[in-house]
Amino acid sequence: MKISEILKNKATISFEVFPPKNNQGDISSIYHTISELAQLNPDFISVTYGAGGSTKGKTVEIASKIKNDYHIESVAHLTCISSTKEEVIKICQQLKENNVENILALRGDYPKDQQFDKEHLEFHYAKELDQFIKQEFPNDFCLSGACYPETHQEADCFENDLKALKEKVDAGAEYLITQIFFDNQYYYRLVKEARKRGIDVPILAGIMPITNSKSLLHTAKMCGCSIPYQLSTMIESYYHYPEAMKEIGINYATHQIIDLITNGVEGIHIYTMNKPEIAQAIFKNIPTVLKELNHE
Ligand code: FAD
Repeated sequence: MKISEILKNKATISFEVFPPKNNQGDISSIYHTISELAQLNPDFISVTYGAGGSTKGKTVEIASKIKNDYHIESVAHLTCISSTKEEVIKICQQLKENNVENILALRGDYPKDQQFDKEHLEFHYAKELDQFIKQEFPNDFCLSGACYPETHQEADCFENDLKALKEKVDAGAEYLITQIFFDNQYYYRLVKEARKRGIDVPILAGIMPITNSKSLLHTAKMCGCSIPYQLSTMIESYYHYPEAMKEIGINYATHQIIDLITNGVEGIHIYTMNKPEIAQAIFKNIPTVLKELNHE
């Protein structure tokens, strides 16, 4: 089923996983993660795409298993900046053969590789990937896109990032998932300003429960997301207490989700970091509030 069909009737709860990285290319550990997440009854699970390295090609395999073995809708992430049109067609064909009907169409980050040839790219922006998939596979996929509550790092301003977002939606993205944020006000601002500019597709809130101070600081820097004063003091105080940081991360994310649901969010997308126990802990904290998301 296409995620856009689900979103017509309800707000969604979803999870993101990534293909495990190891030298042997062994991804079997992901299936334990998915089995655990499946018990939480998500509307869909998305699988990230690594354009290079050992996980290349694993996205299709994992997204297909989620759909066909676990009977949960899956969304395959697909980046285009270092891909050729031929490669994109091949991946879409594989997804189609495996009944995966949903693609999160992304540009991806520029490879750090010095040899990377920026002059001869077949795709420059995510919207071109949307247009290309729509042209080659007109009715096969529901496409979605990424959006940035605190502005994408390469955009010169929020306004221009929103202009680019509108173009991406016009090119075929039927719903959006946000970059992580720790201050819900950025999400509310994005939704309000997007609506003013005619971006009327659902905007799902991407929430990352932080469970480790070091990785939080690294991820926030990488994603260009700010850390509110209250959270930064907690990190400073409990930097050397991993168990305390885990409790703080779970409770901080729980609080963000309660606030988002109270304010009518259209979907919660949890970046699980392949740690199902964290998502389980959040669900255990607020079972009734989560039901409220869909007025059950
Ligand atoms: P785009 O929408 O193309 O935007 C990129 C930049 O170009 C922005 O600054 C935008 O303002 C600007 N821009 C767009 N159009 C124009 C235009 N016409 N003229 C001028 N400027 C323009 N990365 C991975 O490698 N694998 C993943 O699986 C993955 N999953 C992600 C999931 C989510 C929910 C999010 C939020 C991000 C994910 N990323 C992933 C990271 C993403 O690839 C990077 O953030 C990347 O830098 C931008 O991708 P995009 O699709 O948002 O790009």
